[in-house]
Parts: sequence; structure tokens; C-alpha cells
Amino acid sequence: MQSDPSDQAITAQGWVKTKRDSKNVCFLEVSDGSSMKGLQIIIDKSSDISEESLALAATGAAVSCEGILVDSPAKGQKVEMQATALTIVGTVPAEDYPLQKKRHSFEFLREIAHLRPRTNTFGAVARVRNAMSTAIHGFFQERGFLYVHTPIITGSDTEGAGQMFQVTTLDLDNIPKTEEGKTDYSGDFFGKQTHMTVSGQLQVENYCCALGDVYTFGPTFRAENSNTTRHLAEFWMIEPEMAFCELEGNMELAEDFIKYILNYVLEHCSEDMDFFNQWVLKGVKDTLQSVVDTPFKHMTYTDAVAELEKVNDKFDFKVSWGCDLQTEHERYLTEELCQGPVIVTDYPKEIKAFYMKMNEDGKTVRAMDVLVPRLGEIIGGSQREEDFDKLKARIDEMGMDESEYWWYLDLRRFGTVPHSGFGLGFERLIQYVTGLGNIRDVIPFPRTVKTIDF
Ligand code: ATP
Ligand code: MG
Repeated sequence: MQSDPSDQAITAQGWVKTKRDSKNVCFLEVSDGSSMKGLQIIIDKSSDISEESLALAATGAAVSCEGILVDSPAKGQKVEMQATALTIVGTVPAEDYPLQKKRHSFEFLREIAHLRPRTNTFGAVARVRNAMSTAIHGFFQERGFLYVHTPIITGSDTEGAGQMFQVTTLDLDNIPKTEEGKTDYSGDFFGKQTHMTVSGQLQVENYCCALGDVYTFGPTFRAENSNTTRHLAEFWMIEPEMAFCELEGNMELAEDFIKYILNYVLEHCSEDMDFFNQWVLKGVKDTLQSVVDTPFKHMTYTDAVAELEKVNDKFDFKVSWGCDLQTEHERYLTEELCQGPVIVTDYPKEIKAFYMKMNEDGKTVRAMDVLVPRLGEIIGGSQREEDFDKLKARIDEMGMDESEYWWYLDLRRFGTVPHSGFGLGFERLIQYVTGLGNIRDVIPFPRTVKTIDF
């Protein structure tokens, strides 16, 4: 579609998106998925193309068209094809083909997730998701980060919090029991209870403490029964980890990273972004551009709470020092107070994970969350506790089973260094970029409570 007109015969293959008939010509818009707009095919009714094949070239049909590219008089396209031959490939879609030329609701399209990639919206999401994956690897590879594949099945629970999917080959109709009446895992595949990973961080830290700057980018699983527009049971996470790096360097990387990805999408997916800007969220392109152009603001949790307390009557959950920030608080901070992305640091240790480095005050940890308008938290990260005694004390204090973490503690015994990293949910970032309101619409086949079709 970017080629110049030419007399050379070419073939275009794809699916018919629309068909318009006039007295002497028929217009087909044929798409192969490589771009938002399809190629316009002009079929002269006096040509050799039979009326019969024209009749079969209905919406959804797979076709192969031969012809030449000519200048297009129509707006918004450079060339169109003057067809000399039209072949219907395969069988013609049945009459109940569900994707007719009208806007379908996202709810309906989720029920036909096998066909929704054929729509404009889901084609655009797939292309943007692909471009963002490329940009993520590009960003890290350009900076010399090593891509590490962390395991999906795990014997440890990263955050020390529940909500994991269990993996087992035990016969669930005949569960072996110990003398105390508990499940006996000794005969299970791994000989102990195992789960799907919720994060690759603990494992990627091992590679960080040998190879320097590393990242993992893969699927993670959370059996959370929260039916929100921001949670999936299976989602992809990007987790960089840097050696000889403290919280400041971590925040710098997070800001550079987000800006790089947004900029990449604006540059490489302009047609798809124009579509989102027009049909999904008006102004989303300007928002992304302004994030790219503006330095992120910074504030401590303590300062954030002081600001939130001033407007406590606005919130369903009242804020006081020590409480975890809810989305409504995060959105107030980023949308109203800072009017752009803000990085909140130094949270109370009680509301953060065991591995975060303690501040000198003994009350707060070197955590950082990046908050953005519309979504709230998009990144959660920290400097890690590199001191063996302090980390061990924290594990004990939280009542965690130290023996499960011997290998993680070993990193603090042999050549320990300050190191830092963060986790970013890929789908949240795609939501942010596309403006789509529901996380189920930015992953090809969403898995949520009671939804596992396709
Ligand atoms: P939330 O408060 O939104 O549940 P979290 O505090 O549980 O997030 P983390 O454990 O810090 O999240 O995970 C790191 C990142 O992974 C989050 O910042 C978010 O972008 C993403 N994330 C977390 N849970 C989900 C989920 N269920 N579905 C999709 N993305 C998620
Ligand atoms: Mg959560």
C-alpha cells in the first residue's frame, strides 16, 4: 500500500472487510492484517471476473486478487488495485458470520475471542502489543541488559502472599494424606507443593548478582478473585534488575523505560494510534506525548499521605500514615496533585514485601511506585535488602519459612551488592497506551475468574 503505481501485475491475498457495489464496478476492501486499512480492489463488472465469484466475495471471505496498482482518487489511500482476476480461497463464510459491518460491543467480542482479531480494534491492539514487545527488548538490549528466562513453575512464593495457582499431578479424587491428615506431597511430581510463579524477581536477582544488568519478561499467574478491569489471572510481566544500583538509578531507569516505549509506539504505530485516539480514548496521543516530554515528579509516601489527608473527605477509604494507597488515592496524586506521572517512594515496611531495603528510620523501605493518570500504579519496584542479617531478621519477623529462601539469602553471603529493580505489568502498559478500559481487551485470550474458553 506504500508502493508507487506500476504496470507490473501483482497478487494481493487477504480477507474481505467490506464490499460496495455500484452499477459498473464493485469495491472490495481486502485486509491481510498488516495495517489498519485494507487495500481497495476495484473490479470492473465488464471484466473477465465472473459475477459468481463476485457474489461469493462477501465479508469474511478469503480472496486472492490479481491486478495492477493505480493511483487512487479516494481520500486517505495512495494506491488501489485494478483487478484482472479474483479467486475465492477456501470455503465462503457461513451466513451467520458474526462480524458484520457495524460496531460490536467489547463484551460481545470477548465471547467470540477467536474471531475478534479480525476487527479493527483487536487488529490494532495486536500490532501495538507486538511493537511494544519489540521496544521492550530493544530498550534493554541497547543498554546491555541480558534477557533471562525465569521459571514458570516454582517452589517458592515471591511476595510471601497467597493467591497462587497450584501445580500438581496428584490424583485429586484420591489425595494421599499424611498421618496428621494433611495432603502428602511426597508423591507429587516435585515431591513438594508447587505453584505457578507470581513474579520472576527472586530468580532474576541471582543472575543479576553474577551478570550485572538483567531482565525477565514472561507470563505470571495470580489466582486473585478480583473482578476488576485491571486484573488478569495470567499476565505478562517485565522485571529488570540492576547490580551496583540504588533506588535513584532504579527510578531513572523506570522513567527512561516508560518514555522509550511510549515514544516507540507513537513513532511506529501511528495509524493504529490514530484509531485509538479517535474511537477509544480521545486525546490519548497527546497524553502519551506529554508523558514523554515531561520529567516525572517525585514524592515520599509520607508527603503523599500529608497531601491526601488534606482532602480525605473525597475518598471512600480515608487515608492515614501506614495505610496502603488505594487506586482512588493514587489517581488523586497523579491526576490532580501532580497532573502527570509521579514516583512515590519510601513506603512503610508493613505494606511492602520482605526483600525491600530498610531505611535508616527503621520504619520505611526503599520502595518506589510509579503512578500514572487513569490507572494509578503501573510499576512497583525497590532497592533490595543486601545485608544478610537484616534480610534474615525481616524473614523471621514476617513469619516466613527461612529454609525456603536459603538460596536467596546466599546472594547476601557471597559478594553481596546494592541492587534494585522493578516489575511492570505488560497489559497495564498496553491499556495505558491504547486507552482501552478493560484489561481483558489487551491480551489475546484473557484468563479471569470462571473464564478459560479458547
Ligand atoms: P495491584 O495493587 O494492582 O493488585 P500489585 O501490588 O498486586 O498490584 P505487584 O505485585 O507490585 O502488583 O506486581 C507488579 C505489577 O504487575 C503491577 O504494578 C501491575 O502492573 C501488574 N499486575 C499485578 N497484578 C496484576 C494482575 N492480576 N493482572 C495484570 N497485571 C497485574
Ligand atoms: Mg495485587
